[in-house]
Amino acid sequence: MMQHYLKTKEEYKDCILFYRLGDFYEMFFDDAKIVSKELELTLTGKSCGLKERAPMCGVPFHAADSYINRLVSNGHKVAICEQVEDPKLAKGIVKREVIRVVTPGTNIDMQSLDETKNNFIMCIVYLEDRYGIATCDVTTGEYNVTEVDSERKLLDELNRFVPSEVICNNAFYMSGIDVDDMRNRLHITVSSLESWYFGDDLAKETLLSHFHVKQLQGLGLEDYECGVIAAGALLKYLYETQKNSLDHILEIHPYSIGKYMIIDSSSRRNLELVETLREKQKRGSLLWVLDKTKTAMGARLLRSCVEQPLIDKSEILKRQDFITNINKHVITREELREYLNPIYDLERLITRITYQTANPRDLIAFRNSLSMLPSIRTLLDDIDGDMAAEIRDEFDCLTDIYQLVESSIMEEPPISVRDGDIIKDGYNEEVDKLRKAKTEGKTWLAELEAREKEKTGIKNLRIKYNKVFGYYLEVTNSFKDLVPDYYTRKQTLTNAERYITPELKELEDMILGSEDKLVSLEYDLFREVRDQIASNVARIQKTAKAIAKIDAFVSLAVVAEQNNYCRPKINENGIIDIKGGRHPVVEKMITNDMFIDNDTYLDNKNDRISIITGPNMAGKSTYMRQTALIVLLAQIGSYVPAASANIGIVDRIFTRVGASDDLASGQSTFMVEMNEVANILRNATSNSLLILDEIGRGTSTFDGLSIAWAVVEHISNPKLLGAKTLFATHYHELTELEGKLSNVHNYCIAVKEKGDDIVFLRKIVKGGADKSYGIQVAKLAGVPDSVIERAKEIVEELSANDITTIVRNITVDNAPKKKKEKEHLDEVDLTQMSLFDTISDDDIIEELRNVDIGNLTPLEALNKLYELQNKV
Ligand code: ADP
Repeated sequence: MMQHYLKTKEEYKDCILFYRLGDFYEMFFDDAKIVSKELELTLTGKSCGLKERAPMCGVPFHAADSYINRLVSNGHKVAICEQVEDPKLAKGIVKREVIRVVTPGTNIDMQSLDETKNNFIMCIVYLEDRYGIATCDVTTGEYNVTEVDSERKLLDELNRFVPSEVICNNAFYMSGIDVDDMRNRLHITVSSLESWYFGDDLAKETLLSHFHVKQLQGLGLEDYECGVIAAGALLKYLYETQKNSLDHILEIHPYSIGKYMIIDSSSRRNLELVETLREKQKRGSLLWVLDKTKTAMGARLLRSCVEQPLIDKSEILKRQDFITNINKHVITREELREYLNPIYDLERLITRITYQTANPRDLIAFRNSLSMLPSIRTLLDDIDGDMAAEIRDEFDCLTDIYQLVESSIMEEPPISVRDGDIIKDGYNEEVDKLRKAKTEGKTWLAELEAREKEKTGIKNLRIKYNKVFGYYLEVTNSFKDLVPDYYTRKQTLTNAERYITPELKELEDMILGSEDKLVSLEYDLFREVRDQIASNVARIQKTAKAIAKIDAFVSLAVVAEQNNYCRPKINENGIIDIKGGRHPVVEKMITNDMFIDNDTYLDNKNDRISIITGPNMAGKSTYMRQTALIVLLAQIGSYVPAASANIGIVDRIFTRVGASDDLASGQSTFMVEMNEVANILRNATSNSLLILDEIGRGTSTFDGLSIAWAVVEHISNPKLLGAKTLFATHYHELTELEGKLSNVHNYCIAVKEKGDDIVFLRKIVKGGADKSYGIQVAKLAGVPDSVIERAKEIVEELSANDITTIVRNITVDNAPKKKKEKEHLDEVDLTQMSLFDTISDDDIIEELRNVDIGNLTPLEALNKLYELQNKV
């Protein structure tokens, strides 16, 4: 046994091997050590022919699922080695085989997966500077493939799908990608597979045979050389782990990137699209506001819509139309929701059905779900428009399948498939007969007894039962003469004789054999029904998709109406014009105050950048995020929280918010901030929307201001970047840029002074704030009076050396020498970006060189700067 164990383990080196021994799954050696620690199981030992006993631990087989799920969700792969012959019949060692490998990305256990999320596995193949990317959700059969030409784009795809597992070729693993970051921060199980998985021919063959086509063109894959290898390797891996036909993976969906808005991972987190930044929970996220779905399928689709906003105007308009049309018939909409409510996760159910793991209760849940379809189909007739029409086309009421389950499976069957009580009366004659035999056996015996008494005249004739002879007729000696010929004597007692007859034997067979036969016949019939449903997987998946669409967009329609959203106009000339915009989440979270709405105007000409000032807590971040979220919502195709909106489609949204997170990664907050700024400046385009909050906060005032200034100059210059930007800052000096740069404008969030205190008005107005009210905010927060008073004194002294005057005199070059700027950017050493490009006087430069910056106080530095400037 141990030899076989070791051989099997050799084949599944990267897995924890669950090895079936009797009623337990046992683990040995290192596996046992890992598992005993992670699952808090007792570690024991087993003699294994070596000097030391093998470390061992085990779990009972009937409870194995929960242990396996825990290991898998911790990122392990688990190979299940099962006894594949009946131990009673086995000669020698019982034959065992690995029957499945459960990995984070291929787990189909409904209990352990979040039903509102897809569970993706991604295969990445890196070949000659191209990345092939294939992604699959095994629980629903969704299968996508694409190809990109840079690591950044690859990361964008990773962020879009958020897979729980990545498999890759060795070249990718070694490509310098931050695998630890993928593991630790994104919680992805990453493993590189052996090279044979990535053979050209193998990939092609696997795909062609799985999808039953002769050529890749048939799958639309002819332009995806790397993608084909990724898709083929992934499919192979799924076969290897699932050991199953995978019939529910019916289609492969090749897509070219550029179909969706790009949002990098830190922007996703900052915008709190599907979970909050700190608590990592759904409550408080955008999805929390939008999700009024009734089904798991709808919830998953809505989530992926939020994670993948569109950039194609016609597709956005199509979705908008659908929402508009749904809301034209509110009663229909509400009825639809009622019919959607009882629908189970059809996509995952059908997967269990094709995997042959669905139990009788699953089929009842399935039937109950199908029973809602005809009503939903009828209600759909009320909704106009292209999308509703498309859904009607895809919609199949599946009445035949409903009928099949309805007629065959009992109303309240057990979970087990081996205990009978599954098949309904009237579905199968043999079942009826056997079941009758079981329940009516006693009556039949009584009837037979009565008949025989009458026929023979033996008054005290009795049918009795014992274990040795089974059923028999007992006749006391006084009636022995009346026994007819067809009675066969079985036993003689002192005062009676025992007989059997052919008819009694037949009854006995029926009664005694019926139980076993019934159970196994019910099992066979159940499997037949399940297989018959499985053969309709394509129709069912199509309908499941239609249900998902209805549910997700009905949800958006409900939210639009309940929260008083408007339908935004969509344009392609870069204008973002929001009137009366609100933050979709904050307006729901604040309880005691009214949310104050605000306008936003940005375009590609004279209003590219808004510099937003105002005290802490005034509402700067809220305002900027609200703009980003409104744009994002518009590109999802949703209505938006505003009085009116005209949204120019953006290709990317970048946010750099606060100097906060990522302490865990070991980088200083300033370094993290600068990394993000570098990333934004390198990857943003003139069609992007940037939300920059407090850039430069993580370093000294002087450096920080300089960096912030240079960043604004760079962004505002259409030759360099020219992206639409909201830029919140506490450096009031930046307001000097208005007027210096034609497309930069100042805004501030109004506050009212009330004696020594301030009142937040939350209204955005034109112009820069002249004070930061930091001391007043500190007072509001309860900082002791003595500290507040002292701070006031210091601030007065400091203001005497106002740096605004210095800044006012800085000249900006709105069209800097392109080459030079480019060089700066390539080095990404943004701290080197200088305010002083215009200084050319050698003496001054020399003097500047000699300044011992390390030993200057900020004040001395300012004075020095002032002095230098006067010399220019
Ligand atoms: P800042 O970025 O200026 O420090 P925030 O945007 O974080 O300020 O806002 C602070 C708090 O003010 C928010 O948590 C919210 O409760 C409230 N707030 C912000 N904007 C509004 C608004 N428009 N209407 C009502 N309350 C608001």
